Amino acid sequence: MERIAIYPGSFDPVTNGHLDIIERGIQIFDKLIVVILKNPKKQFLFSPEERIEMLKTSLQDFPSVEVDTYDGLLVDYAAQRKAHAVLRGLRALSDFEYEFQMALMNRRLKREIQTVFLMTGMRWIYTSSSIIKEAAMFGGDVEGMVPPLVLARLREKFPILANPN
Ligand code: ADP
Repeated sequence: MERIAIYPGSFDPVTNGHLDIIERGIQIFDKLIVVILKNPKKQFLFSPEERIEMLKTSLQDFPSVEVDTYDGLLVDYAAQRKAHAVLRGLRALSDFEYEFQMALMNRRLKREIQTVFLMTGMRWIYTSSSIIKEAAMFGGDVEGMVPPLVLARLREKFPILANPN
């Protein structure tokens, strides 16, 4: 049986922390589906199309990874794709409570889907999409924290980043 996992998130934009989880996830699963979930609570910097392009380009060397979007409940998507697992990354303590709640809620909604957590690589423990956007907005150099295409796209959004003093 093919072992399929879903890696859901906003990926606004994808960071090297996400890529680290994906690279380790594909060692456990035969197929990994990275899915951009529409989250009505959040405001995004990049459109879904821009986020897909950045993910696809950054993941082009990984044939067992697919990129998709979904508007709805994660467990419904997982069942539809015949996945048995949801993959999530854990950073510092601050992730724990939210991830714990979400994993328990998803288990209540569909018992047969397991949530699997991978601990972030030490290098990426403080890397998040939001802190990267915050730094980039004010011209902070985020090179080395995001894939090259993401850096280029951030420089387009925030001209101050493209012209460092
Ligand atoms: P969400 O909008 O659901 O918070 P994100 O796109 O921010 O989604 O992240 C998706 C998943 O990747 C989450 O499980 C998050 O904890 C994990 N993640 C994000 N950044 C890192 C990182 N630097 N190291 C490990 N996991 C991470």
